[in-house]
Amino acid sequence: MRYADAHADTFYRITLEALDPLDRDGGLHVNVPRMRDVGQVLQVCSVFTPKRYSGKPAEDFARRIIATLDHWADAQPEVFTRVRGTADLAALGERHGLIPWLEGASPLRGEIALVDEFFQLGVRGIGLVHNHANEVADGCGIPDPRRGLSEFGRDLIARMEKLGMAVDCAHLPQPGFDDVMRAVTRPPCISHVGARRFVDIVRNADDAMLRAIGERGGFAGIDFYPEHLLPGAFEPGSRGASVEDVADHLLHALDVCGVDHVGLGGDFDGFNDTCSDLRHIGDLPNLERELAKRGLSEAVIEKIFSANLLRFLGEVLPH
Ligand SMILES: [Zn+2]
Repeated sequence: MRYADAHADTFYRITLEALDPLDRDGGLHVNVPRMRDVGQVLQVCSVFTPKRYSGKPAEDFARRIIATLDHWADAQPEVFTRVRGTADLAALGERHGLIPWLEGASPLRGEIALVDEFFQLGVRGIGLVHNHANEVADGCGIPDPRRGLSEFGRDLIARMEKLGMAVDCAHLPQPGFDDVMRAVTRPPCISHVGARRFVDIVRNADDAMLRAIGERGGFAGIDFYPEHLLPGAFEPGSRGASVEDVADHLLHALDVCGVDHVGLGGDFDGFNDTCSDLRHIGDLPNLERELAKRGLSEAVIEKIFSANLLRFLGEVLPH
């Protein structure tokens, strides 16, 4: 089974903790030996900027993460390959494709010219917000988020679509999400998310949001963060989240979004406490088995594990 994932914080961690992606036991959820084990062809690499950075320091921090990714990709050309356009997607095989992707638009500092600069650096998607508010909209961590898409946010989406970048609605609460659905002319995505059907939090997507993504030919990646999967996952006495919960969210999203629009955005390396049977990408066969047990065909599992994300990127990235 080929595996392609829409969100991991691996290069953020490598930047801050100087971890080695070639080391199987070096502490990273996503690393090269395990990528090989599970046939990973593509990883979307979050360029996450913590809330403490805004303005120029946010831009500088994002550039630092991208420089880390470039360092590893340049040093290991036999191992990694960069994905900048649809031709690179078609060529994926032995090497592991990497795409830097902003998580939160703070590094753009409200300046459209910086979108072009980050595009030049290889960035092919932007998560418009993280939990806090930024120049684009309110994030999902704001109590009672009311600020939808700003004027800058509208210009940003238009520019991204022109360049060939994915518009990512992860962490985007209702007012902003609805504005984005009205603004996009290309398929949008939610790179890493759970379904509110099971855990009713603003960070997750309700059925209307999932449907809106499917109707626009987009992509929703289900994440592996226990708190998004199971209510009170970390509370004492909880059974803890497992691949059974991930399967529940996936099956629901397939129902609502459609079979061609759901995949994986595990958010690995973005949290410490994982599902007990999904501790790192090497455990993905546990999820594959669970999906087969639920009656999904190999063809549908293949769509979830890689084909839908690759199809989505094939429509959005530069040709
Ligand atoms: Zn996130």
